[in-house]
Amino acid sequence: MKLDGKDTKIFELMRRELDREEYSLILIASENYVDEDILATQGCVLTNKYAEGYPSRRYYSGCAYLDEIESIAIERAKELFGAEHANVQPHSGSSANMAVFYAVLQPGDTVLGMDIAHGGHLTHGARPSFSGKMYRAVSYPVSARDEMLDYDEIRSIAHKEKPKLIIAGASAYSKVIDFQKFREIADEVGAYFMADIAHIAGLVAAGLHPSPVGHAHFITTTTHKTLRGPRGGLVMCTADLGKKIDSAVFPGIQGGPLMHVIAAKAVALKQAMTEEFREYQRQIVLNAQHMAKCMSDLGFRIVSGGTDNHLFLVDLTPKNVTGNDAQVALEASGIMVNKNLIPFDTRTPNVTSGIRLGTPAITTRGMKEKEMEIICEMIDQVLRHLNDVSFMEKTRVKVRELCASFPFYKRIYDI
Ligand code: PLP
Repeated sequence: MKLDGKDTKIFELMRRELDREEYSLILIASENYVDEDILATQGCVLTNKYAEGYPSRRYYSGCAYLDEIESIAIERAKELFGAEHANVQPHSGSSANMAVFYAVLQPGDTVLGMDIAHGGHLTHGARPSFSGKMYRAVSYPVSARDEMLDYDEIRSIAHKEKPKLIIAGASAYSKVIDFQKFREIADEVGAYFMADIAHIAGLVAAGLHPSPVGHAHFITTTTHKTLRGPRGGLVMCTADLGKKIDSAVFPGIQGGPLMHVIAAKAVALKQAMTEEFREYQRQIVLNAQHMAKCMSDLGFRIVSGGTDNHLFLVDLTPKNVTGNDAQVALEASGIMVNKNLIPFDTRTPNVTSGIRLGTPAITTRGMKEKEMEIICEMIDQVLRHLNDVSFMEKTRVKVRELCASFPFYKRIYDI
């Protein structure tokens, strides 16, 4: 990729974004840095080609190489996760989830997913999304006692509401999810069970979180979070549901697949089979756990008391700071986090009492426990100097220095 060209406006903005990514601390749990192989694969001629259909069943001529690429991506997904069937065409995690709804539900059917205010995703039944608009969505909370999933409560909601689809998975939940229990509950009420592992896919692939394979009818994921591939989606399911999911993805909800992205998914799935990737995932979890401990030692409250995965929620109430104010001040200091509702939050989603911190991106850069301590110290200090612009500028310089000692794209671009 050349960062110059005729469209100077766009190329200049790309150059600035490259600089921002290289010299900021990315603690947004859903973000990561892909390597040059994935960047190159996404920026290649495969973007030119229409390939509606599936390998050997295309609507266009000239798909021979694309058939091979998609077949390899499918086989790698099946091998990595141990799934019976995989569809690599969903453009995003949301499309993957929509495909499952489309495959097995009728509009108006009941779905049961985790409350978005307690860590669930928009597509698990939240009102503004298709999942809450076209279906009768009910939700389960985390327990007020320990802010963890309460399977007895989920069971009793399922028995009362009789959903046709039960969804496990979250955007902001730091504890292990018991997929086997979810399947038992789904069987008791005759529901399909979908596990959305968008956030934890890398951990599942590395054996650091129990796999939903063997329990879930459908497994959906994004490919760009802990899995560290291109931005996109993936659905897996048992063999008997393969035809249903394939026709739900195409022609159900999508047209032509993004073949450059599918090729990049194949590259990422191969990377995820290596020992190096498993070691990377182990360090993500160690870093998250160490960071949660440091934040707690600094007087912050960690939702659910800690983390088993790559992220955790920080309750800022003891510091009398809102999530939004924290996000703004930290961004000005070069530290990227997102404001996040905490369970039973009394503030609105635009203000929030918490922030979500995640370690996939900084771990990709090679940062370890020692850097987690430095980062937590910086976060604490910035939140103590909320309106002090010069303090934020000084922190920004320190952040740049720290990032410069863990170069990532500087290895391949002139920045
Ligand atoms: N599922 C979960 C649990 C997520 O956290 C996300 C995104 O953050 C998605 C699905 C949707 O992915 P996308 O943004 O690719 O549509």
